[in-house]
Amino acid sequence: MSAIVAIVGRPNVGKSTFFNRLIQRREAIVDAVSGVTRDRHYGKSDWNGVEFSLIDTGGYVLGSDDIFEQEIDKQVELAIDEADAIIFMVDVESGITGMDEDVASLLRRVNKPVFLAVNKVDNGKRAEDAVEFYALGLGEYFNLSSVNGSGTGELLDALVKVLPEKEKVVDDLPRFAVVGRPNAGKSSFINALIGEERYIVTDIAGTTRDSIDTKYNRFGFEFNLVDTAGIRRKAKVKEDLEFYSVMRSVRAIEHSDVCLLVVDATRGFDGQVANIFWLAQRNNKGIVILVNKWDLVEDKETNTMKQYTAKIKEAIEPFVNVPVLFISVLTKQRIFKAIETAVEVYKNRSKRISTSKLNDAMLPVIEHYSPPAYKGKYVKIKFCTQLPTPYPQFAFFCNLPQYVREPYKRYLENNLREKFDFTGVPVTIFLRKK
Ligand code: GDP
Ligand code: GDP
Repeated sequence: MSAIVAIVGRPNVGKSTFFNRLIQRREAIVDAVSGVTRDRHYGKSDWNGVEFSLIDTGGYVLGSDDIFEQEIDKQVELAIDEADAIIFMVDVESGITGMDEDVASLLRRVNKPVFLAVNKVDNGKRAEDAVEFYALGLGEYFNLSSVNGSGTGELLDALVKVLPEKEKVVDDLPRFAVVGRPNAGKSSFINALIGEERYIVTDIAGTTRDSIDTKYNRFGFEFNLVDTAGIRRKAKVKEDLEFYSVMRSVRAIEHSDVCLLVVDATRGFDGQVANIFWLAQRNNKGIVILVNKWDLVEDKETNTMKQYTAKIKEAIEPFVNVPVLFISVLTKQRIFKAIETAVEVYKNRSKRISTSKLNDAMLPVIEHYSPPAYKGKYVKIKFCTQLPTPYPQFAFFCNLPQYVREPYKRYLENNLREKFDFTGVPVTIFLRKK
């Protein structure tokens, strides 16, 4: 799991411009691979070989032009709770504002690394103006121009120096994270799993202060439940805002192998649930969708589950090969099944297929339907192999990898799923030159 860096600051200082600059380079690569819709406020970046997750906190606030001061304070508090480092962005054009002072006073009390970034320093004259930001009492600052990129390197050099090392995996047990929107029933689900204290075998504190793996032996399965202080602790912020659930989810998701996405049946699989889903997908995590509070759904006819499932699948296209279970934490309906399914998904994710088996299965599939000719050129796929990554990724070697389009990759993926069962797991396909 990589460290989490949050960008905070009032609206219009240039947070999203900066965010996009850092994310873009990688994003273009990822987009070419999967082509799915992405969350514009969360992404991965790296500098000097250090990978980190970046969150643009401002992006999660609606109508951010007339945002309340209170909202910003909450964002900052949450960033303080959940991030490993914080970039506090201010704007040299407008100088110090009351809101900046507010945020600074919150950040001065924090013992996490804080980087004051003075943005819109597009020229030397503005660099002189930036001096006033010393008054925020945060020490050294970094001059930045998010528009032309100057100053970015210095800031990132300093940032990656303080990020914690990647956490070590302590055992080989599946790591499950329970995620979802507020009120979906996550804590109730975890409590139902925990049951009585005797099920807890040990508490292993992660190397990062905030995350905890707890080992469970339940229903005959052993697994680690990835919990975050953010989830365990009584939430400081109760509001039902996308930002909070996403921010809380990020750490748990990154730390897990399989995410149990709890959905409130009475509210449905809305855009905010979808965001969390894609967050897990983009991190190549296994996913099980648990439609909870099924006890509250009245008039359950034989078709209700089918229709409900169909709606969810529509929302998660094209990654539809994901288990959807209907549970009730209240009546303990299918709680066991949920864990059993998560274990299956975990196995699918760690599945290794030998190159010979893979080619025996896939070469006939390629023979049966070869990539369509592109600009009069014929693509010949010669062989394929699974990459040694912790989640399923496959390389197909051919003469003209750049001519293999998305639909054909989908064809390969569907066949891989059919032949080897990767239910609940994102599968990535690369075309490589040979
Ligand atoms: P956010 O609300 O903090 O996410 O701010 P945005 O990234 O949306 O930027 C607000 C405005 O500032 C936009 O018009 C940007 O084009 C502009 N902006 C962002 N960074 C810079 C910069 O480095 N220099 C200048 N001159 N303008 C910038
Ligand atoms: P969290 O915010 O996702 O952790 O949600 P909680 O576990 O706090 O649950 C929110 C509310 O939903 C609580 O009042 C729970 O009692 C209720 N709840 C949770 N699971 C179920 C369920 O299966 N059926 C019903 N009827 N209520 C549930």
